[in-house]
Amino acid sequence: MGRKLDPFYTNNFTCIQDVENKSKRNFFKCNHCAAELEHRENRLAQHTSDATKCKEAPPAARIAAHTLMFKKSAGKQSAPGEGDS
Ligand SMILES: [Zn+2]
Repeated sequence: MGRKLDPFYTNNFTCIQDVENKSKRNFFKCNHCAAELEHRENRLAQHTSDATKCKEAPPAARIAAHTLMFKKSAGKQSAPGEGDS
């Protein structure tokens, strides 16, 4: 299976490999404003889409962030009754 990282993340963030922490969480660094964020839920997309959080992101990146969050929420709702019995 393998969960592939959406291109949005690789285009707008750099994975910080050398962070040491107990929980082995993934930390990413914003390519636009250099903020460091934990990759969890929609935090990265929310960061990029919010002009108060990321002042440097170009409009295309904000649109991509919104699109990503929309796809995720739409995916949750449109499950066609699988495993519903
Ligand atoms: Zn940023």
